Amino acid sequence: MTELTLRIEKIKSGTVIDHIEPGKAIRVLNILGLEGQDGRLITVAINVQSKKLGGKKDIIKVENVFLDNEQLNQISLLSPKCSISYIENFEVSKKFILNLPETFIGLFPCLNENCISNVAAEPMKSEFQVISEKPVKLRCVYCSRINRF
Ligand SMILES: [Zn+2]
Repeated sequence: MTELTLRIEKIKSGTVIDHIEPGKAIRVLNILGLEGQDGRLITVAINVQSKKLGGKKDIIKVENVFLDNEQLNQISLLSPKCSISYIENFEVSKKFILNLPETFIGLFPCLNENCISNVAAEPMKSEFQVISEKPVKLRCVYCSRINRF
């Protein structure tokens, strides 16, 4: 663990996402649209031993990025209960555990192609209720189709 800490450079400003479910860090980076092309420092650790999860976890540390609510909701779908820390001036300015919201509105279309939210003449926002956290299952409020993640 000490060795890992040494290898990860401290960031002056940005976000640390810790306790990500193992193997999901790359998908989280995709959600955030981070490909490393813009020169900012991104540190990713995949399948690190975690005492808290009693197994493995992923960690992402990214410079000069803070997350909006939509991004947090998307990450919560992939890995509920991961922890988010915002860093300012090398200090943690805010830290919280990510929770799945009870409903998701307009974030992605229903899997059911015939769902009214997909075929209505007027543009309509999708809406889902969270019915299970592990694995994440959402029920469409219009057609009751279960959408899994
Ligand atoms: Zn639906």
